[in-house]
Order: sequence, then structure tokens, then C-alpha cells
Amino acid sequence: MISLGDIYGKNILNKYSFNKVNYVDIYDSYGKVLAEDITSTMDIPFFSKSDKDGYAVVDLNLKHYTLIDEVLAGDMRDLKIEKGECIHVATGAKVPEGANYVIPIEYVEKSNNEIRLIGDIEETNIIKIGDDIKKNDKVLKKGTVITERNIGIIASLGIEKIKVYETPKVGIISTGNELNSIKDVNSKTIFSIVKKSNCQPIFIGSAKDDIDDLKSKINKALEHCDVIITSGGVSAGKKDYLPRVVSSMGKIIFHKVKMRPGMPMLFGEINEKPIFCMPGNVVSCLTCCYVFLLPFLRKMAHVPYSKKIVRARLSEDIPSEYGMTYFRPVKLKDGMAYPTFKGSNLITSIAYADGLIEIKEDETLKNKNDVVDVWVFE
Ligand code: AMP
Ligand code: MG
Repeated sequence: MISLGDIYGKNILNKYSFNKVNYVDIYDSYGKVLAEDITSTMDIPFFSKSDKDGYAVVDLNLKHYTLIDEVLAGDMRDLKIEKGECIHVATGAKVPEGANYVIPIEYVEKSNNEIRLIGDIEETNIIKIGDDIKKNDKVLKKGTVITERNIGIIASLGIEKIKVYETPKVGIISTGNELNSIKDVNSKTIFSIVKKSNCQPIFIGSAKDDIDDLKSKINKALEHCDVIITSGGVSAGKKDYLPRVVSSMGKIIFHKVKMRPGMPMLFGEINEKPIFCMPGNVVSCLTCCYVFLLPFLRKMAHVPYSKKIVRARLSEDIPSEYGMTYFRPVKLKDGMAYPTFKGSNLITSIAYADGLIEIKEDETLKNKNDVVDVWVFE
């Protein structure tokens, strides 16, 4: 059995990475991770434009101006104005050369072609070349996740094909002869965690407790996927063939972790691809997903990962076992943490919880009223 401390201390999971890149169309880029810095190739805006509907003028002191033309957005003519003249400009329209201010329409009186300024103007109401983005600025760094906010920068620069990290494909296999009578929960749980990690889940199928069937499903996953996740068949039961299967197809890196729930978990490698074999019990499976899989896959996907911790007061004692790390789900309310664990195979133990409490290997109890760190699900 391996401790959590050793798994992290010895960098067992951290050493894996996935660095394939490809180009995607900007419309398909949401949620992808930039595989290169984006440097601006131009000033944005590339012409001075009006921030308001109004009248472009050389100076404000004259107060009276003669209207000589009109520019709407998209009209790219090179116009000029002199003192005493004005040109009507729409919001976003190119401001004529020589203009230093745009007087908003609310600040003028107009009769025929004569414009009179009323009131005081404090802003120029002109957006200058490069006010938004300067040419040669590094506008987005490699590793940035493309969102609804920063995609506008890429779009402003007219970039249509974006170099991104390929999304790791994760093959999911559930195992167990019982899955023709009970519902397969774990494959959906794992599917969701994979999506939460910005990876692409592929459900390979559910395998019987049969060495050949397990091997053939794993081979299929190896063909299509970068990471493999199984559930069930990994503990010490008669039909738990996965340890044998993994060691015959590749190697076991660790099997059995000093944690509850989740003790039977196995991690290995086949054809240099990582394989996680999760326990069959649904809460154990999900706990291992939170503890190991989510951070692992986020790293593979180049998406930042950090634990969100809140402090809360425990509503009751939680005993644990010396030498084992315990993860216990809790519900949070008004600064209190209420334990919800009923059993490793009862999904409602965790389904309504807000986070997990970790009780370290060298502890045997968290006391009622202890202030504890709750690792909040996000
Ligand atoms: P195992 O680790 O294969 O012995 O599985 C332990 C228990 O977990 C089984 O008896 C099932 O009740 C349950 N189990 C295993 N796989 C699944 C699954 N995919 N969905 C729901 N429950 C499962
Ligand atoms: Mg089984």
C-alpha cells in the first residue's frame, strides 16, 4: 500500500504531460488552451474613431461651427477639417484628420448647417489608434484558456485559426458482471469528471469480469485514447482481474492506497499511456476521481487546477483509522460542516455534499466543534 504523501512526494502522477498541438477554427476554440503566445500584429483600433455620435471639431473655444460632411461607421474616407468646421461622426466612425474633439449631439444646437456648442465638454470622445491594443503587445499568453471574454481579443486581430493543445481523449471502461442487473453509475461519474477537466471522454463500454474481455476493451481504449480509466474489478475479490490484466499488458505503478474510501485504487501504464483503475463502489470511485483524476487530467489538458478550501466547524465527531487518510463528504451551512457519509457504495453519501474533509494518516479523530478545512467542490 502506498500513502498519499508518497504519491505526491515522489511525483508519481505529476510527471505525466500531454503536449500535442493542433489548429482549431476560432468557432471551435472555446475552452481550448493556447499552445503559443498571441502577439498583436496591429494597433487596435487602427484608425482614430469616435466614441460618441456627435460633431468632430478642431477646438472647443470657437463654440460655432459649420457642418461640412458626415461620416458613418465603415466610411473609411480620409477627410480633413479646419478650425470653424465640423463633421458629423457616428459612434465608431473614423474621425477626420485635424479633429481633436467630438462634441456629443446632446451638447449642440443645430440650425441648418450651423452647429453651436452648449455646455462644457470634458472628454475628447475620440478613441486613438492603439488605445485598445498596441501592435507587438503580447496580448494572450501560452496556456491561457479561451473564454467568452478573451476570444474577443483573438477576433479583434482577425485570427481565425488558433494553435491550441489537443484535448486529451480519455477512454472509460466500467467492469463487472453485475452491470447487466444494476445500473452503471461509475462510467457516468467518470465521464463528468473528464468533462470537468476539459478532456474528451469516450465511453468504450462495460466489460465482463473476464480477462479476455477486459484486455480487448483496454486495447480498444489504447487505440483511440490518451488516458484510460476503468472502474471495478480492482480489489482482492475472486473476480477482480484488473491488477493481473494491467501487469500483463503493461506495469502497475501503485496498487492500493492508504485512504478511505478508495483504498483498492490502481495506477499503471500500458504502452506509455496512464491507466487509472478506480474502485467499483460509487463513492470510492468518485472520491478517487476528485483526489487523483481531476488534478491529473487538468494538467494533461493544460488547464489550471487549484483546491478551494473553506473553514467550517464540524457538527459531530468523525473517527478515522491511524495510518489511513480519510476523505469524508460534508454539507456546509452557516459556517458548519455536516458529515453526509453513509457508506462507500451509497451515492447519496456524497451526491448532496458541498466538499470533502481530509483526515490525515496520523490522526484518528476530528472532534465535534473542531474548525476544519473543507475542500469545496466547484
Ligand atoms: P468491485 O470493486 O468490482 O468489487 O465493485 C464493488 C461494488 O461496486 C460492486 O458490487 C457494485 O455494487 C459496485 N459497482 C461496481 N461497478 C459499478 C458501476 N459501474 N456502477 C455502479 N456500481 C458499481
Ligand atoms: Mg466488480
